Amino acid sequence: MRERYWRFVGPLILKFSAGALLVLLLAAAGFYTSRDYAANQQLTLHAYKVREQILLLLYRQRAAGVEARSYGLTGNEIHATLYYRYSGEVDQELEQLRQLVADNPSQLANATRLGELVLERRALFNSIISDYHVRGRAAAYADVLAAANQPRPIDELALHMRDVEGDLLKAREARTDRSQIVVAAIALFATSAVLALMLRAFLTITSELRKRLRTERRLEEDSGKLQHSLREAESMALSLRQLSSLGEMLQSCREPDEAIAVVERALPQLLPGVSGCLALINPSHNLVEPQLQWGVRGPDLVAAVFAPDDCWALRRSRPHPDLGETATPVCTHMVHAGVTAGHTLCLPLVTQGQALGVLSLVADHVIDAAQRELLLTVGDQLALAIANLRLQQSLREQSIRDPLTGLFNRRYLEASLPREFSRADRRKGQLALLMLDLDHFKRYNDRHGHDAGDALLAQFGAQLAQLCRAEDIPCRYGGEEFTVLLVDIDARRARERAEAIRAATARLELRHRGQRLPAASVSIGIAIYPDDAGTPEELKRTADQALYRAKREGRDRVVAHALVA
Ligand code: GH3
Ligand code: MG
Ligand code: MG
Repeated sequence: MRERYWRFVGPLILKFSAGALLVLLLAAAGFYTSRDYAANQQLTLHAYKVREQILLLLYRQRAAGVEARSYGLTGNEIHATLYYRYSGEVDQELEQLRQLVADNPSQLANATRLGELVLERRALFNSIISDYHVRGRAAAYADVLAAANQPRPIDELALHMRDVEGDLLKAREARTDRSQIVVAAIALFATSAVLALMLRAFLTITSELRKRLRTERRLEEDSGKLQHSLREAESMALSLRQLSSLGEMLQSCREPDEAIAVVERALPQLLPGVSGCLALINPSHNLVEPQLQWGVRGPDLVAAVFAPDDCWALRRSRPHPDLGETATPVCTHMVHAGVTAGHTLCLPLVTQGQALGVLSLVADHVIDAAQRELLLTVGDQLALAIANLRLQQSLREQSIRDPLTGLFNRRYLEASLPREFSRADRRKGQLALLMLDLDHFKRYNDRHGHDAGDALLAQFGAQLAQLCRAEDIPCRYGGEEFTVLLVDIDARRARERAEAIRAATARLELRHRGQRLPAASVSIGIAIYPDDAGTPEELKRTADQALYRAKREGRDRVVAHALVA
């Protein structure tokens, strides 16, 4: 900042200093030249004064001469008086002349010489007057004539002195003229220089002003860009925060349906102006089933299921259109949903090379690279979450289901009994536990082989599941023993249900390796909570006792514990 200031101010100070120096120099030159001019003027005046003094002296000298001669001719005393007065004045003029030329040695010498000549001439005039007194008028007359005929060196010297002053005057006048020209030239130069400096300063200031305006404009633009970037960064940060919270939510989901619900709420916030649909491939991999749609306007994307091949993204296992692709066809499933043009994007949900579904999007604007990146991340997170949840589900199933029959296992029954007891207590309802055991199963195995035994177990299990309501819990208890926990039921209906199972088992048609196998029979014991037992353990025991009785009484029958007691 400080450096920039000096970069700007430094040259300006230099220019102004140079300008000020120039003006000072010009002012000094003007001052000295005008002083010289004034001094010269003074000298010129002085020369004029000297000339005037010479002429005055000459005039007085001549007047003195005229008066002396007039006395010699007339003897009139007035002339004598005037002569003496003029002579005195001549002395005064001489003295003044000497003072005036004191600075000029040659003229001072001339003036001294002039004084001497004046004295010589005065001696002649004095002799005219004295002769008139002493020797008479004729002698005086003779003196006058002699004086008239004498050469006049005073005039010559005085005129010479006047000429010398004239020459000096000319030289001084010439110098004055030169000074005048120099003063005028300096004034002209000074005016031009000052004008040039002012112009230069004006140009510098306007150019700096222009530069400043340009810089300000650039700064404004830069600040606009900066604010835009800041807004983008803020929105990106917000999106990332939303994305990370979406990821967290997805991680915490227990079921794929929960994950779908989470996405349903998150996507409209994350992608304003974008409508879309999430569709998942069914377990048979032959259909893609839409699960949810978001966005207010737009076509009905969840209306119909479609084949995986109807989506380019699923066919190619990459986003459609892919980055940089233009003029690509809109997917058939989109066209069927009513999307014909506009900005669409299908993202395959893929994990470990397996496609789980597709995220189809319709935007009212071009989906830019940043949004695309965001969508890809959402797609990845979603695919991962769904795959994880499916895996969890399958693991859970494995831990609670019997693989041969698909029924719940004994562990599940043990875990469910306390829960179902509480529910029954809450509703003040009843529970029935059927304990089932296939009759002579060992024999069956022995006769038809272990595989046939397995086939019977599987088919019996499937039939049991079929005959149960959704809220009932059919289990394979172990080996060829099964249980069914019937909820919200009384003893009579429990017995009816057990009879139905028994009858259906007798009718079971079994085929194994192309062979028809004989039907099996099942014995069933029933115990009712709370009538027959107060705890899960007791209920199992009492049901087992009833089953034991059924076996004893000849198998292929239903025995209720109430009857046992
Ligand atoms: P009961 O009428 O008294 O019930 O006679 P049962 O032969 O059915 O009873 P038992 O307890 O004597 O024999 C049960 C047999 O079931 C013994 C075992 O080999 C067979 N078994 C147990 N689990 C399986 C299985 O998973 N598959 C097959 N094939 N047989 C099994
Ligand atoms: Mg048994
Ligand atoms: Mg048995």
